Amino acid sequence: MKNQKENKKENNRRKFLQLGLLSGVSAVAAGSIITNLGEEAASLEETTSKEMTKVLTPDGKLVEIPVESLNHYPEAHVTPAASRKGIPNRKFVMVIDLAKCKNARKCVEACQKGHNLDYHEEFMKVQLIQDNDEASPYWFPKPCFHCEEPPCVTVCPTGATFKREDNIVLIDNERCIGCKFCVTSCPYSARQFNWGHKEKFKDKDQAYSPETQLPASEGTVMKCDFCPDLLRAGELPYCAKSCPMGVIYFGDKNEDIVTNGDETVRFSQLIKDRGGYRHLEHLGTKPNVYYLPAVNRQFPLERGFDVEEEVIERYKEVPYVQDLKKKGKI
Ligand code: SF4
Repeated sequence: MKNQKENKKENNRRKFLQLGLLSGVSAVAAGSIITNLGEEAASLEETTSKEMTKVLTPDGKLVEIPVESLNHYPEAHVTPAASRKGIPNRKFVMVIDLAKCKNARKCVEACQKGHNLDYHEEFMKVQLIQDNDEASPYWFPKPCFHCEEPPCVTVCPTGATFKREDNIVLIDNERCIGCKFCVTSCPYSARQFNWGHKEKFKDKDQAYSPETQLPASEGTVMKCDFCPDLLRAGELPYCAKSCPMGVIYFGDKNEDIVTNGDETVRFSQLIKDRGGYRHLEHLGTKPNVYYLPAVNRQFPLERGFDVEEEVIERYKEVPYVQDLKKKGKI
C-alpha cells in the first residue's frame, strides 16, 4: 500500500515536471565554480546556447565554456545577481487546504532541516485560529505569502529584499544590514531575525545564494523562500513534498496548475470549487498563497495536540485550548 502511494506520488511529481513547470533553469551557474562573476551570471538568462561564458574552476583557472553547458553542471548554484531575476515565465503560487491539516508539523520539520534552521526557527508556522468563543478552531499553516505588493520590499533601505518576476520574494543576506524594517512591516509576521544558529552549516565553503539562504548570516533577516533551489531541480518545496496529508499544493499561475504530489489540478478551478481565499485580503498586499476553508474536515482538531508541550503553550490564548485545559484534557 505504501509503495503504491509512493509510486502515485512519484508519478504526479513527474506530471509536475512534464508540464514544464520547472524547466526554466537557464539562470543556473556552476556552484563551486562561479564565485566572482556575478554580473556575467546575471546575464545568463538573456544569452543563447551558442554564447560562451567565463567561469572559475575549483583549481583557480579562468576557462571559457558554452553557456548551455552550465545548465547541466551537477553542482548547480545560482549567484545573488542571477537569483534576483527568478525562473522565466513562471508565476509561482501555493494553495493550503485547511480541511486536511491536523498539525502533523511535518512541513515545519522538513523546512527546518532543508534550511538548516534550529528548532525554534520556523519559516512555516502552524497556528491555531479561533475567531471568537463560539467559532470552530482550525489549524492554519502560515508561510511567507510572497505578496504581489510586499511592504517588506518597499521599506528595505538597501534593496536586500526583492520581488522576482516569478512571484518569489527573497532576501540577499549579503546586502541585509539587519535593520528589521521588513520584519515590522510584514503584516503576517513571516520574517525573523537570525540571532545565530546553534547548528552551524557544515559546508562553509559553499558560495552564498539568496535562493537557499545558505550559508546563513547571523544578524540578518530570513524567511520562507518557496525553495527556489528545489524548483530549479524540478521538485516541490520542502513543506509541500513532506506533508503526509497533502495539505499544501504548489504550482504555476501561468500554467494554471498546482499539485500536492498526489493530486495535480487546475489552480483556478480548485479556488472556484472550494471557495479559496487569501488571508487578510483587505490589507491589499495580494498574497500568492491561497487558503481552502476548513469545512468538511478530514481530521478532528483534537488530533493536532499530539505535539510537544512547548508547541501547545503557543495556543494557550485560544478559547478552545483554555476550555480543554479547564477540563484537564491537555
Ligand atoms: Fe513580505 Fe510578509 Fe508579504 Fe512575505 S508575507 S512577501 S515577508 S509582506
